[in-house]
Amino acid sequence: MESHSASLKVYFIPSVFTSHLVHLFELCRCLASRGVHVIFFSTPSTTNLLHKSLLKAEAAGHRIHVHNLKFPSQQVGLPEGVENVVGVDNLDAITKVGQGMALLRHQLEQFMEQNPPDCIVADMFHPWTSDFANRLGIPRLIFDAAGVFPACCKESVRRLPNFPHLVNSNSNPFILPGLPHQITLTFSRLPEYIQNTTPLTQFMESVRDSESKCYGRIINGFAELEEEYIEHYKKTTGKTVWHLGPTSLLNSSSEDKAERNLKAAVSEDEILSWLNSKQPNSVLYLCFGSVAPFADEQLLELASALESSGHNFIWVVDKKQRTEHETEEDRQKWMPRGFEERMKREGRGVVIRGWAPQALILEHVAVGGFMTHCGWNSMLEGISSGVPMITWPLHSEQFFNEELILRVLGIGVEVGADNCGVFNVLLGIATKNMVKRHRIESAIRKLMGGGDEAVEMRRRVRKLAEKAKAAVGEGGSSQQNLTALIQDLQEMKSARTKAQIDNINKGGGN
Ligand code: UDP
Repeated sequence: MESHSASLKVYFIPSVFTSHLVHLFELCRCLASRGVHVIFFSTPSTTNLLHKSLLKAEAAGHRIHVHNLKFPSQQVGLPEGVENVVGVDNLDAITKVGQGMALLRHQLEQFMEQNPPDCIVADMFHPWTSDFANRLGIPRLIFDAAGVFPACCKESVRRLPNFPHLVNSNSNPFILPGLPHQITLTFSRLPEYIQNTTPLTQFMESVRDSESKCYGRIINGFAELEEEYIEHYKKTTGKTVWHLGPTSLLNSSSEDKAERNLKAAVSEDEILSWLNSKQPNSVLYLCFGSVAPFADEQLLELASALESSGHNFIWVVDKKQRTEHETEEDRQKWMPRGFEERMKREGRGVVIRGWAPQALILEHVAVGGFMTHCGWNSMLEGISSGVPMITWPLHSEQFFNEELILRVLGIGVEVGADNCGVFNVLLGIATKNMVKRHRIESAIRKLMGGGDEAVEMRRRVRKLAEKAKAAVGEGGSSQQNLTALIQDLQEMKSARTKAQIDNINKGGGN
């Protein structure tokens, strides 16, 4: 395969959003590991972030070349060096980072016109790349950091008889038409850009348009997880998909798993030795992705539920200002008085403020449950580690993913969230639809209490974990997909070269 793929040149254009960036880089490593020559577009700060992974790729002899673009910080009103959303926690700055990313287009076009690749793999946040690739006569693959299940749900919503006027039906459940399973939703659980017409609505339309013009989709996931939906997606969109993951299983070293390029707020040894002291399946891990600053009132409900549930936990709290130096008065706004000290003393719980070594924690035998916001990558990591979930979706397509966990795979318990809205979450004002402590506690008891239903969920998710491992192993479906993708790109390249030669022979010029 290596000699065959050595002449292929593939460009990766990532976005500035943490989970997208990190996982696209890992998929880029997959192609490079087969000898494909890869150029990963970046900016200096993002390259620093990826430093360790790049060194490893280099040591492994993978041909990943990073091409740094100049991020227009000044133009969008950001301090020098802020070039992705890592460490950015307010909506205004996130918007500016997004604007800066859009302004990279000119530099990217110029470079690619002068040095055309054989394929462009671009994050969904670069919708212009489909038309651009078509103009160059090369394929563009889209990456949206999610699977085909949420993509099928999103398309199905559009087939609802009253789309896009789905107003005033907040609490009336409806079935998503045409899907292989009966998926029931309410208006308030739909992505916020579908519920309301916002600038994001228009942008998402351009993403959809670009998807219709792209060649196919690469996915951090494994085919066995959503087989029926792969077929459905192909049938309804005419596009091919290549599941190439789960990337969390491709990292062999614990350091890789722990850091994901971002410095964890707790040491690997410290967290592992705490976990080693616990019984199998006795710890609940709670983390809500890279963008989920809950309001203080909601955190207080959650902390109270954790304490009264009586179960062990590792709780990742995302907000930068929740440092250990905060005053007791500040702390009491979001956790009961003396909570952290009590939990520490009793050996019951750990609170991590900042980035957690998630993939490493999840695969520990002591972890028996994962309370998650149902982000695609988190969900996949839970599944790959064989851990059943408590679902608490917050924004974007996460309510679709919750349906996959609960209704299709039967590997989770819901907390009862029913309002989708990223802007509320980002502004820390998602108190309107707060999930109360008794509901949280009851979900924790249901999953961690060892009842028959939980045992069955654990059995199912372990089977899926075995399939995930097999997928990335030798001859597994993700390895086969990688081979098929490279062959496909190679064939297209040969066809293009042949057409050019024919053209020259016919006297058609260059
Ligand atoms: N993650 C992590 N530590 C954290 C928070 C998140 O390692 O403290 C990783 C997590 O393992 C996952 C990604 O960040 O790979 C989050 O992606 P996901 O799609 O679940 O959610 P998003 O951040 O896009 O909402």
